[in-house]
Amino acid sequence: MEKIKMTTPLVEMDGDEMTRVLWRMIKDMLILPFVDLKTAYYDLGLVERDRTNDQVTIDSAEATKKYGVAVKCATITPNVARMSEYNLKEMWKSPNGTIRSILDGTIFRAPIIVDCIKPAIPRWRKPITIARHAYGDVYKGVELRTEEPGTAELIFTGTSGKNVKQTVQKLTGPAVLQGIHNTEQSIEGFARSCFNYAVDTKQDLWFSTKDTISKVYDGAFKEIFEKVYADYADEFKRLNIEYFYTLIDDAVHRVIRSEGGYIWACKNYDGDVMSDMVSTVFGSLSLMTSVLVSPDGKYEFEAAHGTVTRHYYRYLEGEIPSTNPVATIFAWSGALKKRGELDENRQLTNFGHSLEQACLETLSDGIMTKDLADMAEGLTPVIANTEVFIKAIAERLNSILHSG
Ligand code: NAP
Ligand code: MG
Repeated sequence: MEKIKMTTPLVEMDGDEMTRVLWRMIKDMLILPFVDLKTAYYDLGLVERDRTNDQVTIDSAEATKKYGVAVKCATITPNVARMSEYNLKEMWKSPNGTIRSILDGTIFRAPIIVDCIKPAIPRWRKPITIARHAYGDVYKGVELRTEEPGTAELIFTGTSGKNVKQTVQKLTGPAVLQGIHNTEQSIEGFARSCFNYAVDTKQDLWFSTKDTISKVYDGAFKEIFEKVYADYADEFKRLNIEYFYTLIDDAVHRVIRSEGGYIWACKNYDGDVMSDMVSTVFGSLSLMTSVLVSPDGKYEFEAAHGTVTRHYYRYLEGEIPSTNPVATIFAWSGALKKRGELDENRQLTNFGHSLEQACLETLSDGIMTKDLADMAEGLTPVIANTEVFIKAIAERLNSILHSG
């Protein structure tokens, strides 16, 4: 069989530890035998980030702006322990944070639905994708703890010199205070990313805030989403999908009682908490995918989990662990499908679908990694290590591609 050709390179961001090992296996066994792979390769492994003073991360984000589609391996975010483990020059920032701030994107987290793994909420038959606003609010807040009675005030000084002042509270004793903000530009970017992704995946978009209580702050989110929606309303109608705004409390009721199949856009804090709830209900972090979408339609695909450090240390001692590669494979298939779509390369898009189908068939046949075996229902799982599991996927992929 002739290999599938590519016209535009995919931005490839390599990573760390166990996922770096998976990365190599996935490429060698599932991609390179079938695709004449063209990538702009950036090594975001911690060693190379340290060597380049993190320039490589910035370069990879700039390349994503240029080419439009990236696939990223999980990477270590350094902490104190990593400083000595890798003898680092500096405690480099999270690569995901750096890339996100350059692309100004929103992260969409979606579960991979597998027949034999039943969500803890049986009604949820279709994926629920959480879109979390990744800027501001309490994550960029300033906080105070006071010790005496006094008056707390909110003061804004404009560049024109204009002053706006409001009393927060007259305090009769010690208290805690918090100042938070968001920007119209960031909220609008968030809205655009959400509407683009809804159009892209042909799913309804839900958005929720607490605008009954926070009339100005959350009210602005609601209003900006409505304004941006005007640019998408025709496209939504054509695709027969819906934009639906509701109070966060009401959204929680509806989500629990729904069957899934939509995007739920959340403010920063709501998204942080709700994405943990959704991934837990669907089963496993190793079945969560994550895609960063910029307001101008650039995409970066990855798995939601980290570098699986504990498995890596066992790997270094000679064991081939049973680490689940499915979310990382879906990052590749997602990126290849998107690349194919943008380049009008049907073969490449079809290959992405086939790769996903091969993963799902392998799991349906009961072959799976250890993390899933505990959750599988209706079959007797055969636990495979990562290498055996990927080989099983490759066999199925081969037969899908030859029968199609
Ligand atoms: P983690 O790598 O997601 O792993 C936490 C635990 O979850 C693992 O020890 C493992 O449990 C289980 N797990 C996660 N993914 C799995 C998979 N694919 N297959 C099987 N089991 C899986 O999180 P972490 O240990 O907190 O973080 C490790 C490193 O990853 C850190 O340096 C962190 O900075 C980085 N990180 C990167 C990203 C990213 O690049 N997007 C995201 C999160 C964390 P058992 O050990 O019980 O089997
Ligand atoms: Mg969280």
